[in-house]
Amino acid sequence: MSNVLELPLIGLWEDCILPGETRALAAPVVDPATLRELPARVGTRLCALTVASAIELPTLVTARWGTECTVLAADGSAVTLRGERRLQITRAHGERPPFVAEVQPAADPPEDVTGLVDAGHRLFAALAAGVLPQRPDWPQRLVPALAELVRALATTEELRETARWPLPEAVRNYAQTLAARAQGEHASCALEQSLRELCGKPDIPKTLRQRLWAQTVEISRRLDIYDPSAGNDEDDLGRLQRRLQQAGLPKEARELAKRELRLLRGMETKHHDYPSYRGHLDFLARLAWHAETLPPPDLSHVAAVLDREHAHLSKPKQRILEHLAVHTLGGRARSTILCLVGPPGVGKTTLARAMAEALGRKFVRVALGGVHDESELRGHRLTYVAAAPGRIMAGLAAAGSCAPVLLLDEIDKIGTERARSPIGALHEVLDPEQNPHFVDNYVGVPFDLTHVLFVCTANDLAEVHPTLVDRMETVELEGYLAGEKVEIARKHLLPRLQADCGLPSALEMDADALLQVIEGHTREAGVRQLRRHLEAVHRGRALARVRGSPQDTLRPITAQEVRAVLGPARYRQRTAAEALPVGVATGLSVGSDGGALVYVEAAIIHGKGELRMTGRVGAVMQESAQAALAHLRMDPARYAIDPGRLGGDIHLHVPEAAMPKDGPSAGTAIFAALLSAATRRPLRPDVALTGEITLNGEVLPVGGVRAKLLAAERAGIRAVLLPADNAADIPEPLRVEVVLVRRVAQVAERVLVDPPKAQQPDATAGQPGPPEVTG
Ligand code: ADP
Repeated sequence: MSNVLELPLIGLWEDCILPGETRALAAPVVDPATLRELPARVGTRLCALTVASAIELPTLVTARWGTECTVLAADGSAVTLRGERRLQITRAHGERPPFVAEVQPAADPPEDVTGLVDAGHRLFAALAAGVLPQRPDWPQRLVPALAELVRALATTEELRETARWPLPEAVRNYAQTLAARAQGEHASCALEQSLRELCGKPDIPKTLRQRLWAQTVEISRRLDIYDPSAGNDEDDLGRLQRRLQQAGLPKEARELAKRELRLLRGMETKHHDYPSYRGHLDFLARLAWHAETLPPPDLSHVAAVLDREHAHLSKPKQRILEHLAVHTLGGRARSTILCLVGPPGVGKTTLARAMAEALGRKFVRVALGGVHDESELRGHRLTYVAAAPGRIMAGLAAAGSCAPVLLLDEIDKIGTERARSPIGALHEVLDPEQNPHFVDNYVGVPFDLTHVLFVCTANDLAEVHPTLVDRMETVELEGYLAGEKVEIARKHLLPRLQADCGLPSALEMDADALLQVIEGHTREAGVRQLRRHLEAVHRGRALARVRGSPQDTLRPITAQEVRAVLGPARYRQRTAAEALPVGVATGLSVGSDGGALVYVEAAIIHGKGELRMTGRVGAVMQESAQAALAHLRMDPARYAIDPGRLGGDIHLHVPEAAMPKDGPSAGTAIFAALLSAATRRPLRPDVALTGEITLNGEVLPVGGVRAKLLAAERAGIRAVLLPADNAADIPEPLRVEVVLVRRVAQVAERVLVDPPKAQQPDATAGQPGPPEVTG
């Protein structure tokens, strides 16, 4: 190799010299025979190597790292050397010392002064904070300073270890040692500080006591003397009493605690009631009975945290800020409860969590899904066999705060069928008149809930108990467009998954690969399934990294890899080629999982002109059907319908699973299905409809437009016919064409595959005029 050098080789016995250091070395670090033979000329270069035994030289040092040194002075009994740079020994030979080493210098990284200063700052900041620097890419000029640092602080053992590695690794290793040591010192300083504080104070404050206790447990764990059963001895009750005193119980609770303590003192610890009373007192001591004084919220900070954690959702974020502003000003509306409504995975829970973080409050989540009995919220009495606190008080005790953000999750899933339904308890919790004195059966005395900031979530507002809706301010999160999901994945999901899966840096993913996951593998308004699929890809990379070449596992994720990990697309985009049978129209509905397509089917059969409806249809939908049919019967020629055709029995069917709610918005879809059946012409499969209709053929606005349009986009629909009065609800950017319509005649024109020529102008409204197109 071209840059191989030959240098005299000296062994340093259990010692080393690092680049940038100047050291005088004598026996026993350097063997006397070597010292005698060393070239005395100043400026001679040689290679110094750490050895543990004389027999390593010269044959056992191949591939080891040494330091190239310049001789500054040598007199046969000592030598002064200056370390220059690290070298790797490719071979060593010779009969007697000094041996000869063939060496190869380590590649010097190019020098960059700004980078140097930055790297220095980063390193020292990291060491000071007790954190291990991740990337040892220190510029070369930092090396002498580092060498001095290492020499000044390291023990002989650490030095020996350091000398075994090429410099970047050596620094990294040593930084690790330092960081560990710094952490240790940190802990003992904190302990000393606490002890000093403790000695100066007769009455030890609760926070200090807790901190000390945590440190004591940590220390006893490290020293292997931790005894978790230490609390069960004689003075256990004394300790409990002290904790209760410190908790500052209000009068009623204090009286109760006193009675129970007296009871426990008179009881054998083996008594079967002992654990339940003891547990109860422990629970009382764990509750935070007094609110810490919170500063008024800094709403620009809250806005920043919400923006940092969630992309898009500008309206919900704005509503949250407004709600907090009213809360801060103490307006009368402060007692309304924020309720985040939307399909799963759109970020309701995480928004509430981010709110808590931004306000500096603890976060408690109480899942209400499947809660059927009041006692699950209000607890069971102490005398009951399965005595336990309700979910609200248990959450507050776990948080150790009486002013957290408390999330009542899935309030629409709460069971109301039993006699003792949880709704009553929930009312009490949320009612500002009653919640200062909320009594949990287990706690047994009133607890003040006024400081808690309640937030609810629901998938479907229509399912929330009406009396609760009155107390709420609803904020709708309707779901994301494909383009928005791509951005959420890039900005939020990929970096989080990198950390979750232990990869050193976030993986890139191009929009095509992401769209392939979004469109081919998920059918959701939110991003939960998307996250799960991306996690599968990340897990694959983590496995590959542990098994094989680490570099390769950080390359961008491609569409090909998505296919390899997730398999072929589970969902297919519908294409216009898939024709609909005659009499079938594509409607749009909104339910708890977001929007969905609904196929309305109509058939005309021989009969007396009756309208029959089957499937999931309620009264409102029946009325829409009557109106649609009457409109067609009034003016069949307008739609090129053979007048006798509508005389038969008409059967309308809406499949069971399709329409979660009975609403008027299926009007235009019912009209289109009837029109198709009556004209025997099929409808366009890539056009979906929503809109309420009147008897004279007007199209009226509907709700849930965003969710419906998102569902249409997901399903691969090309155009949606929307009531013109809904123009303001259309989100941007959208990948479906939106056609605004005012009259059903316009619907007929756009939705039939082959619209017939109108034979007569619309009797009630004149010419329909051209449809308005947006999107
Ligand atoms: P929900 O409570 O509505 O069912 P979650 O709050 O549990 O949904 O959200 C599911 C996941 O999606 C979380 O990991 C969350 O961080 C992520 N997520 C949802 N919406 C967004 C968004 N707008 N920006 C970033 N991440 C989001």
